[in-house]
Amino acid sequence: MFKGEIELEAELEDLMSILAESETEFEIEAELTPAKRTRGREVASDQIRAGVTDENKVTDAIFYDLHPTWKDKRLPSNAARAIKDEWIQIRNLIVRPMLQEMACSGWESDPESFAKRAAEHHLGVSARTTRIVRTANPPNWACNVSVDRGDGPVVLTVQLSPAEKLVRVGPASGPSGQMMCYKYRCVAANLVFESSVCSGSAPQPELEAELEDLMALLASSDLQAEAEVFAVPRLVFDLQCAACADGQCVACQDQHCAACPVARGDCRTVLNDAIGEAIRLANNAADRVEAAIRVRAELRDGQAQRTAQLFHLVFCHDPLETVPWAGGPSGASVAQRFRAVAHELDFNQGQRRMRFICRPARVDCRQADPAESTCCTPNDNAFTVPGIHSTIFLCPLFWTDQNLEGLPDLSRRGGTILHEMLHNLYDLDDSMLTGRLNIPTPRRFDAHCYKAFALWISDLSVEQFVLDACNQRACAV
Ligand SMILES: [Zn+2]
Repeated sequence: MFKGEIELEAELEDLMSILAESETEFEIEAELTPAKRTRGREVASDQIRAGVTDENKVTDAIFYDLHPTWKDKRLPSNAARAIKDEWIQIRNLIVRPMLQEMACSGWESDPESFAKRAAEHHLGVSARTTRIVRTANPPNWACNVSVDRGDGPVVLTVQLSPAEKLVRVGPASGPSGQMMCYKYRCVAANLVFESSVCSGSAPQPELEAELEDLMALLASSDLQAEAEVFAVPRLVFDLQCAACADGQCVACQDQHCAACPVARGDCRTVLNDAIGEAIRLANNAADRVEAAIRVRAELRDGQAQRTAQLFHLVFCHDPLETVPWAGGPSGASVAQRFRAVAHELDFNQGQRRMRFICRPARVDCRQADPAESTCCTPNDNAFTVPGIHSTIFLCPLFWTDQNLEGLPDLSRRGGTILHEMLHNLYDLDDSMLTGRLNIPTPRRFDAHCYKAFALWISDLSVEQFVLDACNQRACAV
């Protein structure tokens, strides 16, 4: 037997003994339905994001999530086989494919996002990043990360060594002996760190000296570049404008190019305002849904009744309706998703550092292909490419003032960001339902439906194409 198999046997025995101690009848149902798989992937990605990459632990988490009532209950002995089969199916069909490691090139080429994650891992979750300054360029980049742990700010230096898949983190001003090292891996679009020894791979002395010079220079100056990156209070993001085609993009006065001239060329302000609006829309939607499920339907006040009606209109059921595989009332998980969007966009709270990249429109664009993410189709406001983490691509229509009735451009842009964030966080992919029509509540998987709900509940109009896209989904299958 391999080590892996022995571990599996032990794991299953534990599981069986827990299950054997309990006393409930149940239906033997080993089939892993599409709904269970979808829910399982959600649970697995939460686990991985939290750093759990042991396949048995992730499988257990999914198993108990799908079967919360089995905890502490007894199963008939003939259930053993079915349980074992289901557990193994979960592991083989959901967990193993998700735990397959991916290339880290996306993270490695994004020093600010990477450095933020590494610094926060080093200090623990309560750390709050307030400032990131790049001090050396890729591939062996370095960043100074200012972090506040509640007891005043500390500045850490984070240095990457992609050849060794190693990152060094330590006090920016201390001797190099105070550095800690972490091996990193990329799993399901997340960075996972593991403590490691800093053996024999310290930076070359010359490089170190060079870095020190550079650091001294940075410390004593008030660089234009720094001021620009951190001029935005509270929210931090990157606005990049790579691959702008001639004649389709114009330079903004703030030196970033935009797909279209907007607000006198002040792209960063427009985007910052749109992010603030996306956070507001998402939090308001979450607040309202939570209020509507806090009491029994017949005890709802006028506002909660209206919330429930809108929820029903969009998602086809009452927010209190239990969705068995979501582990509770539908509204609870919908609100949780809205909350996660606000959380991730808010730099003070979120774990990510969103990157916004402008792209020009091209009639023959095929951006569903990751290699073709260099362009928008003329009808796009924005798009997201599965597998390109923490990134939203913005198109000319995002920037253009559209002056729609009942939907100010600020809120239209906020709604677009909210929609794209759902793709980033939950893979609520516009195209993923095609061919996967067995999902019992398809609208809960459509990012357009969430956007429609968030705008409506804030008394705003919804773009027709958003309504059409959501309506195209059946209420239930
Ligand atoms: Zn979409």
